[in-house]
Amino acid sequence: MVIVDRNKCIGCGACSSICDKVFEMKEGKAQVKKGQEKTTLPCAKEAAESCPVEAIKL
Ligand code: SF4
Repeated sequence: MVIVDRNKCIGCGACSSICDKVFEMKEGKAQVKKGQEKTTLPCAKEAAESCPVEAIKL
């Protein structure tokens, strides 16, 4: 499961630029795109590692 903690997210946009198949920005915060919750794309992990506030859990 890929989860974005929207309380932690500061809306930097890094995850959606790194992995736009999985993450999108909505109202200034990131969210996981519909149907992508169980993605195994390597870029999701990369995005999680790049999140400055560790808001993405895999
Ligand atoms: S990288 Fe982290 S802080 Fe930046 S938009 Fe994504 S979830 Fe939010």
